[in-house]
Amino acid sequence: MLEKELDGLSTRGLRRFWRSVEAVEGSRLKIGGRWMISLASNSYLGLHLHPRVKEAAREAIDRFGAGAASARLIGGTFSLHEELEAALAQFKQTEAALLFPTGYMANLGAVTSLVGPGDLVAGDALNHASLIDACRLSKAAFRVYPHRDADRLDACLKLRRKRCRNALIATEGLFSMDGDIAPLAGIAEIARRHEAWLLVDDAHATGVLGKSGRGSLEHFGIPPGRILQMGTLSKALGSLGGFVAGPRAVIEWLKNKARSFVYTTALPPASAAAALAALRVIQGEPSCRARLKENARNWISGLKNLGLDLISEESPIVPIRVGDPQRVLKLASDLFEAGVFAPGIRPPTVPKGTARIRTSLTALHSGEDLDQALAAFRAVFAHAHRS
Ligand SMILES: *Cc1c(COP(=O)(O)O)cnc(C)c1O
Repeated sequence: MLEKELDGLSTRGLRRFWRSVEAVEGSRLKIGGRWMISLASNSYLGLHLHPRVKEAAREAIDRFGAGAASARLIGGTFSLHEELEAALAQFKQTEAALLFPTGYMANLGAVTSLVGPGDLVAGDALNHASLIDACRLSKAAFRVYPHRDADRLDACLKLRRKRCRNALIATEGLFSMDGDIAPLAGIAEIARRHEAWLLVDDAHATGVLGKSGRGSLEHFGIPPGRILQMGTLSKALGSLGGFVAGPRAVIEWLKNKARSFVYTTALPPASAAAALAALRVIQGEPSCRARLKENARNWISGLKNLGLDLISEESPIVPIRVGDPQRVLKLASDLFEAGVFAPGIRPPTVPKGTARIRTSLTALHSGEDLDQALAAFRAVFAHAHRS
């Protein structure tokens, strides 16, 4: 039965698989004994390999151990967790912040604690699975508005807000699979006018967008105020873990109510220490972000010169529109043969008919990496056109 279903996935080009990485060096991954250029990393600033970040993780293990050994509210809160929460709150310019074991759990905890039966939650059509699951799990009435469409969001709230006790708007800041940015000034104004919570998932924007890397609110110059900013430590911060930053009362509420915070073991000390060190690098070495920007700019212009159809060109996430999942698989596999690891992204991660090659740039890519990768794209896409 399951075997047959799995065969069906294979036939439609939707079967999932992974590539096993044997070693990591800068922008390169060793896979199957070959060193590949990776265009698959979310560690946009390369901080997972930064000497101070790695050293902080080692020191934390020596001081606190390999695991936290308890939930946060029992005996698993270390001074490191508190230090990191204070640093995240300061970075996000909010009163407080709360750590979760992953970003996925941060979204689950935030949404389900703030809205429930009789409430309304509205989400962007291209929101991350963790936000969608959170909205469904909340048991609030869940409405989806078209991607980045603030007018439709406003119309939805106009129609439904009065009948609900609480309302929440959930959107990604920088969209993970499309690389475009939510119209947050408009959305924040809508949230204010309709007295709705606004939760911005800044998993990809944290450390990347804004003059100081604070994220999508800084990108637009929007004061955080009552907005809730979710983030992850697993992308630009190069570690693992999630967080929500916002007003102190909300954070205190999550600490009491968020089941994905209360009923799980605290973040391992090494992860917390690595993220804290990464945050300091982000604030102390803006050159990382400058290099990321330059790499993204060069990569985008290179792909455009090849005549490829880019879904967006405003961030280090640069997806190339393909459409058919089988075609995406073939392109990804040809690129792999040519020494470039650029994953094919297929439904249900993205909507049907919008399969794509997703490339992500990092500060670790050298000019030579990008030249080499571009040559591979030229050869593979030219060949795909002819055949
Ligand atoms: C990665 C991601 C998450 C989940 O974060 P993890 O820490 O990996 O669980 C949530 N939202 C978005 C938009 C993401 O890209």
